[in-house]
Amino acid sequence: MKALRIHGPKDIRLEELPDRELGPDETLLAPRAVGICGTDLEIFQGTMFYFTSGMAKWPIVLGHEWSAEVLAVGKNVTQVKPGDKVVGECTVSCGTCEMCRLGRYNECPNRRETGILNLDGAFSDRMYYPASFLHKFDKISYEEAALTEPTAIAVWGTKLVEVNPSDYVAVMGPGPIGLLAMQVARAYGARRVVMIGRRASRLKLAKELGADAVINLREEDLVSAARRATDGRMFDVVLEATGNPDVTKELMKITRPYGRISLMGLFNSQMGSIDLDAMVVGNITIKGSLGSPGVWDETINLIERGLVKAKPLITHPFALNDVPEAFELMQDRTGDVIKISLRP
Ligand SMILES: [Zn+2]
Ligand SMILES: [Zn+2]
Repeated sequence: MKALRIHGPKDIRLEELPDRELGPDETLLAPRAVGICGTDLEIFQGTMFYFTSGMAKWPIVLGHEWSAEVLAVGKNVTQVKPGDKVVGECTVSCGTCEMCRLGRYNECPNRRETGILNLDGAFSDRMYYPASFLHKFDKISYEEAALTEPTAIAVWGTKLVEVNPSDYVAVMGPGPIGLLAMQVARAYGARRVVMIGRRASRLKLAKELGADAVINLREEDLVSAARRATDGRMFDVVLEATGNPDVTKELMKITRPYGRISLMGLFNSQMGSIDLDAMVVGNITIKGSLGSPGVWDETINLIERGLVKAKPLITHPFALNDVPEAFELMQDRTGDVIKISLRP
């Protein structure tokens, strides 16, 4: 099989890897579409936390946002068969530790993460993957289905802060996760969802995808615009999707008492600052959000029913051979790339 493996920072090679025997609980898949996200770029650049901390080992085949066709199944596998269209979870956990038994397998200490943490991903024409972390789909294209993973991240981050129909919700950052979380908050019935960002083209897309209002921080003052957008009451829920430590200073200013904040991005920094007194005085809850345990079938359903539109996020289709070029395009933030989708 052909795979794009990363051997170290900026050392990416298209390689022929040997086929092997299929394990009894495994499947052999043909990836049909793969998305690239900021995490892939960080791994490519060698700055991603798992690699800098030594948790993750080189080399690795990237690709954690993917859809695939089942080619063959191991002898114990009954839940999928050859020909099925599937997506697979990023987290592949041990299934036996306490976190796994509690359903919190995103925090399994023995976990692997597909294309990230010690398990090869989908930048490849073939892929071995455990059947129990697969989910079937059939009403959407492979390209859309490849966005199930980032959508599941958005669903989990939104679910953690229990968005409900009385909530005014702010989404900080109209990147892929922010644009998906905004749609999830709407699907959960939020009273008003406001996208906050800096790039006019992204904010325009947020409006097209259903944001009730947008705030452009290049043109407006955050606090007064937030007050106006919430009829003076400020936000019940803030979904932080920028991963920018400077943004953490702003969170308390726009959250109302008893508000809930979900941090959905990694900051790569200890530099953020949260106004702790404002947090205490406002009875405000902040939740860190990693992974997407137990929300994959719900996520596929949201996309299949059109409640979350993933397709408009795909701006740059690429072939597998052009990955280095795709990474360059992602680094060049002036190009306003939203989502690159690969066809292996
Ligand atoms: Zn990702
Ligand atoms: Zn476990």
